[in-house]
Amino acid sequence: MAMFEDSVTRTELKSLGEFKLIDHITEDFTLNNKSSVYGVGDDCAVLSYPDKKVLVSTDLLVEGVHFDMVYTPLMHLGYKAAVVNFSDVYAMNGRPKQITVGIAVSNRFSVEAVKEIYAGIKQACKNYHVDMVGGDTTSSISGLFISITVIGEVDENNIVYRNGAQNNDLICVSGNLGAAYMGMLVLEREKETWKGNPNMQPDLAGNEYVLQRFLRPEARFDIVEILAAKDVIPTSMIDISDGLASELHHICKQSKKGCNIYEDKLPVDPATILAAEDFNINPITAAMNGGEDYELLFTIKQSDYEKIKSIPQISIIGHITDNEGILSLITKDNVTIDIKAQGWDSFTE
Ligand code: ADP
Ligand code: MG
Repeated sequence: MAMFEDSVTRTELKSLGEFKLIDHITEDFTLNNKSSVYGVGDDCAVLSYPDKKVLVSTDLLVEGVHFDMVYTPLMHLGYKAAVVNFSDVYAMNGRPKQITVGIAVSNRFSVEAVKEIYAGIKQACKNYHVDMVGGDTTSSISGLFISITVIGEVDENNIVYRNGAQNNDLICVSGNLGAAYMGMLVLEREKETWKGNPNMQPDLAGNEYVLQRFLRPEARFDIVEILAAKDVIPTSMIDISDGLASELHHICKQSKKGCNIYEDKLPVDPATILAAEDFNINPITAAMNGGEDYELLFTIKQSDYEKIKSIPQISIIGHITDNEGILSLITKDNVTIDIKAQGWDSFTE
């Protein structure tokens, strides 16, 4: 049923029932944040944010649409489901503090499988100092659904929206782009081979980095901390979930601006380039249009250039222009190309 086996023992969900299952999956979570007053156990969790603005965001993940059970280890799925929500809070220049978790599972899943998902969620909560304070559990007749809501905090003066980019602002991106997309292509390729011969072991050697970027992404809390330490408040920010091109369109549309991006400035990891060569695709295409990197894309005032120019995790890839709606990629050969708002979907056809 899956390329990677998650668990050997199998306890049927119906042998526990809903309430015992909830007890079982929530028992080893503890509350550590000051703003978490009361967690699992009553009709609502209780939170306290006396002098902050509260950020709230939800992501819904659907089996077969957002993840493929054939190649997604359940622990990674739980981890990723939590981390992509944290990423949304960082993209507002905030700090995630709590999550609630809604899951719908079919009988196909065992108690152990649900526990695996929660082990991933727990690891993510631990790594990012977030408390799990509640959720909902129900059955599903078609696959697995996970909906996580994140609650975060931010000082009113530090909130960064998508709509604040100004003419001549520098466009920055964290880390590198396109790796997660290449990881997905590797897994899709191995899935096809595996379907032909389920006894064979997937061949993933050499692709560890891109696989990890896809299966177990991290959110860039470090960037938010670095910017704060340097006293830089971006003029706009967004996290890269659908691909750089798509996110640039969001920032430019909401800010009523355009942009110039330079191909030779786009950060692409050597492992991504190698994988792209293997698949005969241009790594720049993966960087522009591949999704799920969960890097941060943000704009800063020219006057902040000195503060960020030598931060290794940040690349300056271009600048904002007053040409509303005109988004250009300038290639290494100095050719100007229109940046199309291709999202993730157009790649999976
Ligand atoms: P209600 O009937 O009010 O929805 P539940 O019995 O569903 O209450 O939930 C009881 C407690 O367990 C609540 O605190 C709820 O937030 C928590 N809870 C339920 N399901 C989950 C889950 N999947 N993950 C985390 N907490 C959960
Ligand atoms: Mg409930």
